[in-house]
Amino acid sequence: MNYSHSLLETYETCPLKYRLIYADRVKTERKSVEAFMGSLVHETMEWLYRQVIMARVPSMEEVETYFSQRWDRFFHDGIFVAHREFTAGDYREAGLKCLRLYYGRYHPFDSGKPIWLERKVVVPIRLEDRQARFVGVVDRLDSLGGGRYEIHDYKTSARFPTLEELERDRQLTLYQIAVENSLPGVREVELVWHYMLFDEELRLRRSAEEVQRVAREASELVMEIESRTEFLPREGDHCDWCEVQEFCPKRKHLHLVGSVAAPELGYDRGARLVDEFVRWKEAREEADRQLKRLREEILEFSAFHQVDNIYGTGHLLKISRGERWKLPSAGTEEREKLAECLKQMGLWDRASDLSESRLQAVLRELEGSEEGSLIQSFLTKEESVALRVSRRVDTDD
Ligand code: SF4
Repeated sequence: MNYSHSLLETYETCPLKYRLIYADRVKTERKSVEAFMGSLVHETMEWLYRQVIMARVPSMEEVETYFSQRWDRFFHDGIFVAHREFTAGDYREAGLKCLRLYYGRYHPFDSGKPIWLERKVVVPIRLEDRQARFVGVVDRLDSLGGGRYEIHDYKTSARFPTLEELERDRQLTLYQIAVENSLPGVREVELVWHYMLFDEELRLRRSAEEVQRVAREASELVMEIESRTEFLPREGDHCDWCEVQEFCPKRKHLHLVGSVAAPELGYDRGARLVDEFVRWKEAREEADRQLKRLREEILEFSAFHQVDNIYGTGHLLKISRGERWKLPSAGTEEREKLAECLKQMGLWDRASDLSESRLQAVLRELEGSEEGSLIQSFLTKEESVALRVSRRVDTDD
């Protein structure tokens, strides 16, 4: 299997999304408008530099026309806008802004000699017992002469990276290996990111050790993916941009309930069930509040009138009083001392109790360790289902 940067990044973001796209290969027409805009900006930049290589510098108007015509031709219903305060038209303008800023800054595009444009590269990754392949596409490679090269990457994201994020880069660092492996006499390689919406250029040089470290980490990640048997969904803000929501148990209902076919397919029943569930839950919470209040009033009544049995019209309420020992809180010194004392007296087995929720927490901490496996060997697994409700954050009320 080939491993690309987007594959590894997808796995790190959400293992289930990785499985759906790269293992199950589900088919979807959905694409975020950001991804659509980014790919058109890349195509336009490739076209621009192909003209430059042919000794022809297109005008800004031609660049805009190239982008706009492709936008009109390829935009389709599956392209979605996750940021509800923006429209698709805003993204079209943002794409044009990227191109205008870049054009204004670099015209006439002669700071280096472009020798690769959108070039596919393959980097071998050494695994424990064999090799895998990291594949990618270099946006542009410039030769500066004398064995000096620059790997350029265009970014259309509206999020500017921190230095730390840049230093964590894997993609361009692995491309550096491809450049060093493919061209003769490479002396220096510089990584250059163009954050086009900000008109900013970020540069980084990687030492041989750093390149090796990044390659080693990539191979460790590949081995982790290959050894995985379970690919669980990892929810987060990134879900709003997920193209495979319709196949994910976390977002499938939200995705389908807004579609015309929802009532026909029965998906809208889910919304009615949740609404009814919330109504009863709220009624129960209100009932709990009223019961707490009544309990206090009843105890007050009982103390005032010195009565333990209180008669209603059809029911009798009995108050039993007694005493029970209360344990010191978990984690306190008193609790530790008590445990120690019980052990010394040989009473620990009789007095102590295993808390299931605490055991789950311990197992989560020990996940993947020998101790965790040993504890699990005493346990049986049974399905657990919990229903929790919270306010939807995607609605305006
Ligand atoms: S919607 Fe979220 S949790 Fe589901 S596959 Fe996509 S990224 Fe993962």
